[in-house]
Amino acid sequence: MRILIVEDDPRIAADISAALKAASFVTDIAADGEDAWFRGDTEPYDLIVLDLGLPKIDGLTVLKKWRAAGRHLPVLVLTARGLWAERVEGIDAGADDYLVKPFQMEELVARVRALIRRSVGIGSAVIETGLIRVDTRQMHVSTNGVHVPLTPLEYRLVSFLVHNKGRVVPASELLEHLYGDEDAREANALEAAIMRVRKKLGTETIETRRGYGYFVADSAP
Ligand code: CA
Repeated sequence: MRILIVEDDPRIAADISAALKAASFVTDIAADGEDAWFRGDTEPYDLIVLDLGLPKIDGLTVLKKWRAAGRHLPVLVLTARGLWAERVEGIDAGADDYLVKPFQMEELVARVRALIRRSVGIGSAVIETGLIRVDTRQMHVSTNGVHVPLTPLEYRLVSFLVHNKGRVVPASELLEHLYGDEDAREANALEAAIMRVRKKLGTETIETRRGYGYFVADSAP
């Protein structure tokens, strides 16, 4: 899952990025409204964390531009304490949730997880399908009740496919959602990770649809 952090205070942006990375998200940072608008319009993010007070173009205007352009991804707005009118405006402009600064990083991470789940129609922090069980809070994956240790890339892969269960996910889409701007996107490394995950979770858990992509069935556990 790939997240855009829009925040002009470099220290806050770095703190948010570190917390989200520790929770196994990949992150990009935009420090002004213009860069934010461009990235949010052209890159396939799973969620955007948006500060409203920004240089060049303010956050509210950026949000309205995304929504007007048909970008429906979840947006979590950050607002300053006491500015309740700003929060109302943010929600009216299409924000899905907001946090008042200063906030606890744990709360931001929990809200991000919940918003991403909701955007794909999943209600619970524990996602189960077929033999796979993913606890997104603990970043634990198990099959048949047995915990399966995964590398960070392997976990991101399983988490993305399980969030998109019942849908064939092209390899190109996986590359865009599992790597940030700064990472080298290696199709070979991704394919190798898929092979390893199949070995660890069982070959039947991730199907390859030749010429289309990868598929995790949406079936009762
Ligand atoms: Ca700001």
